[in-house]
Amino acid sequence: MAPSSIAPPADARLSTGALAVTRHLLAHGPATRGDLGDLLRVSSASMSRLARALVEEGLVAENAEPLPGVGRPRQILSVVPGARHVAGCKITGSTAYGVVCDMLGDVKAITKAALPARSADGSVPAAATVRVISQVVARLGRRVPSLDGVGVSVGGVIHDRSVVREGTFLGWRDVDLATPLRDRTGLPVVVTNDVTALAREQLWFGAGRTHATFGVVTVGAGLGFGVVREGHVVDQLIDNGHLLAHAPLDSHGPRCGLGHAGCVAAYLNRDDLERHASALAGRPVTLAGLVERATGDAAAARLLDDAARALGHLAATFAGALQTTRIVLAGEDVATIAASPVLAETVAERLRPGPQETQRCKLDITVAPSTFQDWARGAAVTGIQHVLGAV
Ligand SMILES: [Zn+2]
Repeated sequence: MAPSSIAPPADARLSTGALAVTRHLLAHGPATRGDLGDLLRVSSASMSRLARALVEEGLVAENAEPLPGVGRPRQILSVVPGARHVAGCKITGSTAYGVVCDMLGDVKAITKAALPARSADGSVPAAATVRVISQVVARLGRRVPSLDGVGVSVGGVIHDRSVVREGTFLGWRDVDLATPLRDRTGLPVVVTNDVTALAREQLWFGAGRTHATFGVVTVGAGLGFGVVREGHVVDQLIDNGHLLAHAPLDSHGPRCGLGHAGCVAAYLNRDDLERHASALAGRPVTLAGLVERATGDAAAARLLDDAARALGHLAATFAGALQTTRIVLAGEDVATIAASPVLAETVAERLRPGPQETQRCKLDITVAPSTFQDWARGAAVTGIQHVLGAV
């Protein structure tokens, strides 16, 4: 934004500008006032005000960098890593995985706790879950000087950064998680979809450093999708990723849980993949068991190659629909499936131009396997963004 543009009130403008400076320093490292002013299109007077305010807040430090010769030393701004600490918690169907992160998203402590046993209706009791998360947060809080906020991520549909409208693995409908957690911890709380949290983490500390628009696909118990467009994370997908997950690939292929023949999910959902592997073996086979079998069993190896092909098509289709060259593949099972060369071959085939086509496109598809701790880190980074006022 140019400094001369119509502006909101002075205090609001300051916080927006301060956030832009902080975000840039976090994503790209230390910078001079002059460089920041040029990059963010802020006048040098405004930049000095922003720098002073951030230094007073304790978020940013300014240090002189001596230059060779007699020139005036340059003032370098950098984020103070320990200025804020936020707890992040990833909730699965059975466990709360917690981490505490500093401003740079570096993990300072980890812990985990079992969620309460399921009720007779199959759902995980919400009030007892809130108590478990509070205990996890309290435990993490003892490991750092002080906590400034909490980020919680859950698989499913989240409304208003607070209410779990559909908790896929918890059996929840319309459970307000943020309000009771805020009451118990006395801290700001943000609740988010787990893949959206990974996309937020990538926006500041990963793909977002080089790409304003990118997609995140997670492969594991289910398929998950995160979308970042022009630097903004899409908080709630219109379909929770359903349209991409069930895109048809082969009408003669295996069926997904919804009965589609040969859709993307039929090849990639862990449950579906294990069901097909079990049918092939004539006994229950886990994904790890399938990988073991694949070394000496062509049919088992084909299931993994087919999964890699489905993932390649999915990544290419997602990139084309989003019009980005960058897709991040993540999730607990992604390393297993991306190990097959069929993934890269499929993407290359999708990109092969026709004889009259002159435009060439190259996709940057990265694999970032995620442990539950990585998922929790996504929640913590979302918490940091929330505490700093980032939208
Ligand atoms: Zn399907």
